[in-house]
Amino acid sequence: MKEETKLVHAGRDPSAHHGNVNVPVHRASTIIETTLDSHLSRSRENMYGREGTPTVFALEELVCELEGATEAVICGSGLGAISTTILALCQAGDHVLATDNAYQPLKNVLDNVLSRFGVTVDYFDPTDVTTMETMIRPETRLIWLESPGTHTFEVTDIPAVVSIARERGILTAADNTWSGGVYLKPLSMGVDVSIQAATKYIGGHSDIMMGTIACNEETANQIRRTFNYLGNSAGPDDVYLATRGMRTLSIRLERHYKNGMVLANWLKEQELVLEVRHPALPDFPTHDIWKRDFTGASGLFGFLLDCTDRDVIAAMMDGLKYFGMGYSWGGYESLLIPYQPHRNRTVMNTDPGGQSMRIHVGLEDPEDLIADLAAGFERLAAFGK
Ligand SMILES: *Cc1c(COP(=O)(O)O)cnc(C)c1O
Repeated sequence: MKEETKLVHAGRDPSAHHGNVNVPVHRASTIIETTLDSHLSRSRENMYGREGTPTVFALEELVCELEGATEAVICGSGLGAISTTILALCQAGDHVLATDNAYQPLKNVLDNVLSRFGVTVDYFDPTDVTTMETMIRPETRLIWLESPGTHTFEVTDIPAVVSIARERGILTAADNTWSGGVYLKPLSMGVDVSIQAATKYIGGHSDIMMGTIACNEETANQIRRTFNYLGNSAGPDDVYLATRGMRTLSIRLERHYKNGMVLANWLKEQELVLEVRHPALPDFPTHDIWKRDFTGASGLFGFLLDCTDRDVIAAMMDGLKYFGMGYSWGGYESLLIPYQPHRNRTVMNTDPGGQSMRIHVGLEDPEDLIADLAAGFERLAAFGK
């Protein structure tokens, strides 16, 4: 089966559900067995609601197909997937290396939680694998990657990191949220664990919180077991919606990619835009790695605005019709937020000068989106920039 066919056909069996195309929402805490024998010989399939129901197993199967995983674990949020993975793989005395451009709450897990249990962390420039290698210690256990980082979009040379890590018996994990699991296959590149905030593209409609952990054979047992210890599971309605999102994931991403390129190329031509941070633009610094390792790009990228005055930026943003100001991304709708990428960084902490903006290009007609932004830039210019 090709990928599109898998996303349509995996994880469902209408004949097991009265011919229903979709696996229904199973609401369960207690799962009843009728003989003492079957009660005492339960497997995960009929253990307890927290450990999974057929609704959850359907999504697990789809995630395994999408990411090429041995086992998939479904958590109540993307951050839950991150913390479960790290807690599963690290113990006191271990050292973690993580890309400095990674999702900031990941740093909270490492700096503010794992540090209390004797795990140390260092952050490295995601574009400098040579320096990363010099930071490895005998106790380094895990290298955490997020490529591209979802604020400034530098792409990391994952195969180079994996080859260094494997040689030394260090595990690697990648946050694969940006690619939706469609455009990058970390496990096939030798990464041990690929997590996603399914809140983003898998859900696709800005109405659920969920995380997925796709594990290779080496990490599957430890991650499943730790997930069961921690109990970070997702609710049945959200799991159903994530599974529904999976059915259209590939085709939605195709449009996010296409619309994103139209907007990125338009933004590049704007006088008030100093820089567009999009891995698929040929002049973006790590474009060659993106081109080698990815098969597409999502709708999330950044740009640097030639203005830092809050009131002036407000004049632009407050009047936008189609771009919402809000956290998260990956829904069908467009978003735009300002942010300060250097503030949460250890090694990439240089202020870029202008105002960094992060844009999520949704499924609207790109002409409408451009007209909306163009009007915003006019308000900005009129304000005297
Ligand atoms: C949003 C996000 C997360 C966290 O997901 P939640 O479901 O919001 O907890 C993790 N990684 C990346 C790259 C994200 O964008």
